[in-house]
Amino acid sequence: MNRVYNFSAGPAVLPEEVLLEAQAEMMDYNGTGMSVMEMSHRSKAFDQIIQEAEQDLRDLMKIPDNYKVLFLQGGASLQFAMIPMNLMKNKVADYIVTGQWAKKAWQEAQKYGTANKIASSEDKTFSYIPDCSDLPISENADYVYICENNTIYGTKFKTLPNTKGKDLVADVSSCFLSEPIDVSKYAIVYGGVQKNIGPAGMVIAIVRDDLITDDVLPQTPTMMKYKTHADADSLYNTPNCYCIYICGKVFKWLKKQGGLEGMKEHNEKKAKILYDFLDESKMFKGTVEKESRSLMNVTFVTGDTDLDAKFVKEAKESGFDNLKGHRTAGGMRASIYNAMPIDGVKALVEFMRKFEKENI
Ligand SMILES: *Cc1c(COP(=O)(O)O)cnc(C)c1O
Repeated sequence: MNRVYNFSAGPAVLPEEVLLEAQAEMMDYNGTGMSVMEMSHRSKAFDQIIQEAEQDLRDLMKIPDNYKVLFLQGGASLQFAMIPMNLMKNKVADYIVTGQWAKKAWQEAQKYGTANKIASSEDKTFSYIPDCSDLPISENADYVYICENNTIYGTKFKTLPNTKGKDLVADVSSCFLSEPIDVSKYAIVYGGVQKNIGPAGMVIAIVRDDLITDDVLPQTPTMMKYKTHADADSLYNTPNCYCIYICGKVFKWLKKQGGLEGMKEHNEKKAKILYDFLDESKMFKGTVEKESRSLMNVTFVTGDTDLDAKFVKEAKESGFDNLKGHRTAGGMRASIYNAMPIDGVKALVEFMRKFEKENI
């Protein structure tokens, strides 16, 4: 077996302990004589899996009782439509556009009502988080929308925007469970799990319960009403059973790592190693403003696209995979999610130092 250090932005690295456990249970889960993949979602064994997963997530994030936890399909991208369909009572929402994912969400919302772009960082290729302390929030906005961590450009909101009393909706796909958050500050916090939690194909949406109603836009499909899934405890139809099972294992792993406080400490340590190197390097430099730096997605360039390509190629040959930046951003990106060990980041920096010496 030859595992690489995998810096993929998503689907992404998972804890080895979790993969080994899943491997051990592949043929016979807990005495059932079958794999979780082969099991009815109405079975006792699966019921325990989903209930424990929800409870462990609630414990980790300290989710208040008036929030529902929903395990949904369609990826984070389906939420771009589901959110306006369920929340746009006045048909007005305000979007803060700090990257491609926020932009896509904003564009999708325009199909359902007036989606205002109230702030953006596109003028400097999304390399910073704009000041959101006093934005022109619409008087009748149903919600204010952010993408909290920008996977592609490597920025993160360090403070939440001042929504002037309006509900805040946040896409946390690429910073999910990377540090503690105060769920009560959000109306909806959601994310695709394939970045920092589990396999692809599922979203976890944490939704304040007063927003879960039948009062949705006309023609909203049954499958796209939060209430459909909330009423059925995420078992309205067959959920992504295997994904829920793996996520559940990751939640237990996170608890063992000291929960989200432990994760935050670990993630800050890892990111500092890489950012400190970028700040001292003569060849590599970070592409975002220091105050907006993400702990999860670290973007950098050499300033020469041929040299970038050479770096990505040689890094891969040395066991550091998926360092190429997003196709719309170029350069390099090291995604250093929860499951990336500190040794992986240290080894990457060593490799970068060596590459710099050889190519300067
Ligand atoms: C990856 C990503 C998405 C899209 O996720 P899908 O599950 O592929 O739809 C949306 N938002 C953010 C912040 C992401 O990182």
